[in-house]
Amino acid sequence: MTVLVLAEHDLGVLGAATARIVAAASKLGPVDLLVVAPDAAPIAEEAASIARVAKVLAISGLAHAPSDALTDLLADLANGYTHIVAAAAAVGRDVIPRLAAKLDLMPVTDVIAIHSATRFDRPIYAGNAIETVSSGQAQNLLTIRASAFRPAAGGGSAPIETLGAAPASHQTFVSDSRTESELPELSTAQIVVGGGVSFGSAEKFALVEGLARTLGAAVGATRAAVDAGYAPNDWQVGQTGKIIAPDIYIALGISGALQHLAGIQGAKKIIAVNSDPEAPIMKIADLALVGDIFEVVPALTAELQKLGLKR
Ligand SMILES: Cc1cc2nc3c(=O)[nH]c(=O)nc-3n(C[C@H](O)[C@H](O)[C@H](O)COP(=O)(O)OP(=O)(O)OC[C@H]3O[C@@H](n4cnc5c(N)ncnc54)[C@H](O)[C@@H]3O)c2cc1C
Repeated sequence: MTVLVLAEHDLGVLGAATARIVAAASKLGPVDLLVVAPDAAPIAEEAASIARVAKVLAISGLAHAPSDALTDLLADLANGYTHIVAAAAAVGRDVIPRLAAKLDLMPVTDVIAIHSATRFDRPIYAGNAIETVSSGQAQNLLTIRASAFRPAAGGGSAPIETLGAAPASHQTFVSDSRTESELPELSTAQIVVGGGVSFGSAEKFALVEGLARTLGAAVGATRAAVDAGYAPNDWQVGQTGKIIAPDIYIALGISGALQHLAGIQGAKKIIAVNSDPEAPIMKIADLALVGDIFEVVPALTAELQKLGLKR
């Protein structure tokens, strides 16, 4: 049983999700980690230090991860691997179904637990139920939710094998737009502060960012806050946003709609601040504070700053 994992990276740096995917995939067998990037060498060096990686395969080329060429590449490499695995993120969600079509296999997506080489848990109905999938296939293609697994440790020294030219792509890259932020990455942050539409404006939503900055936390938002233009799209948490699994989630002025809860089920502790004690989020919160966000958030931020918690 050997597993091929497609590494996540961005701007020439290995993504934090990769060590988590490796940890998950190593339950299935020895892991080969594939790095495909315009300049794969420095990323491959980083990847080689992840414990439990047997070998890093590095291939330079394919800027902006074109899904057609990545699919062709994975199909070429597929022979000999019992599992081909990617993070359940933008690239993996695009490539794994294409690969499944090409290899005539059924992919198993959004895996959150691995019981054996052929039995996996995945959420359904927006996270309201977990199904266990038993696959009868000899080869399995998986996307894995990184937030459901602890990262593999560092300190490894896997060999790096450099592969030849990447297949050609027929896709044309147009543009991408990024939210610049020094705050931690939302999907893998240990603390997340989330804000709802109740902040009423982008200016006031800065209160959420202020508290997050004080705690060294990432910022999340409800879809209602994103739709209202108070927060960028990539801060959205939930069924149609990011899935998070922080140690602490602080929900500020958030009602706790099912579609939002679908994104925070992995949170270990939920602290909610809401003026309505009957709001659904207050029922599931470990700590529910009935209060006005415009009073509580500035006071909490100021107290934490006094305590010198600012990182
Ligand atoms: C197909 C589909 C997919 C969706 N996907 C997502 C998703 O991925 N993520 C997501 O978040 N939503 C999603 N939604 C939307 C979701 O149903 C809710 O509409 C949304 O989560 C509500 O956001 P909210 O909590 O900010 O707003 P509201 O539901 O309006 O809640 C505002 C809360 O703020 C409280 N409040 C108001 N003023 C104050 C104050 N001054 N102090 C303290 N508390 C206050 C209120 O009591 C209330 O509980 C989806 C909906 C659909 C139909």
